[in-house]
Amino acid sequence: MSKRDYYEVLGLPRGASSEEIKKAYRKLAVQHHPDKNAGDKKAEESFKELSEAYEVLSDSRKRQMYDQFGHAANAGGAGGAGGFDFNQAGFGGASINDIFGDIFGDIFGAAGPQGRRGGRRRAGRPGADLKTTVDITFEEAAFGAEKVITIPKNVRCDTCEGSGAKPGTQPETCSLCGGHGEVSFQQGFFAITRPCPRCNGAGQTVPHPCGACAGSGQIKKRMQLAVKIPAGVDTGQRLKLTGEGEAGERGGYPGDLYVQINILPHEFFTREEFDVVCEVPITFTQAALGADLEVPTLEGKVKVKIPSGTQSHKILRLKGKGLARLGSYGRGDQLVRVIVEVPAKLNSEQKELLRKFEEIGAESTHPMHHRFFEKVKSLFD
Ligand SMILES: [Zn+2]
Ligand SMILES: [Zn+2]
Repeated sequence: MSKRDYYEVLGLPRGASSEEIKKAYRKLAVQHHPDKNAGDKKAEESFKELSEAYEVLSDSRKRQMYDQFGHAANAGGAGGAGGFDFNQAGFGGASINDIFGDIFGDIFGAAGPQGRRGGRRRAGRPGADLKTTVDITFEEAAFGAEKVITIPKNVRCDTCEGSGAKPGTQPETCSLCGGHGEVSFQQGFFAITRPCPRCNGAGQTVPHPCGACAGSGQIKKRMQLAVKIPAGVDTGQRLKLTGEGEAGERGGYPGDLYVQINILPHEFFTREEFDVVCEVPITFTQAALGADLEVPTLEGKVKVKIPSGTQSHKILRLKGKGLARLGSYGRGDQLVRVIVEVPAKLNSEQKELLRKFEEIGAESTHPMHHRFFEKVKSLFD
């Protein structure tokens, strides 16, 4: 029996990228999938051939071997390098859901991301994740805080202790799946497993449901929860509170709670990573003559010396007066950005004084201005 070239099977050139291989495989797998071609021997063969080609070409080591040695790379008996055997259980180690993921997720009734938690199955459907946002002040972001949040969520019913069964009665083992929570059936050449439709994967049914929770084992409650906000957090970051999401159904794992941080605007401060930025307007005489200013910081006012001849937008750095460096040590700085305010609405006396100032030496007091227009002059004259 002569084997077709794996690249030919996928309809790709030899240099195809791994992304192209994946795409071509998925497209063809949908066409030839045994679910769509029940009883069609040829489709089953094509699907097998396709799977084999993908198995090799999606694995960089096997692909390299194949590129070098062709089909001979995989001949030579079971257990050899790159050898595989479709009669064995499994699919080269990858479960059918790993391979098909999004395409066949629905067909196979694959559990959502919830269902994959932790590996070992636990009876009962896991609880959903919850999301909420918490508003904090700039100072709380800087130093950390503890916030109490209120969140409506499903919690375990105390009346039935989460079993869903009326007190004094017992849940019964599900008659369809025998308590396994999943059912398997043979489709083509592999077995498909899906959550039991009778008990929704719980493995148990409740003949006498609990009155307080109508048999679900959980009730909706507004829960208060203290959340520790670490110092240095920023807007948009999420805190994950493991197990604080919705309760799982009948003993399933609880979901997680994600708390998104939103920092409220501050009157004086903005933020650049872990530095606090504060813009301070000064008068042009303060800028020219120098001045002592009181500047707000996260810990109250501090004195800052403005040297004479300070230009607008100059940044003065206050070491260690910034936010805690989340995930590291120490604190950022405070950056004081000085904004020189040019006088407006002058009275006649002020105008007169400024004109006089201009006459007696604007050249030496504004060297930058002077140099610029000297250059312009020499360029165009
Ligand atoms: Zn109950
Ligand atoms: Zn069942």
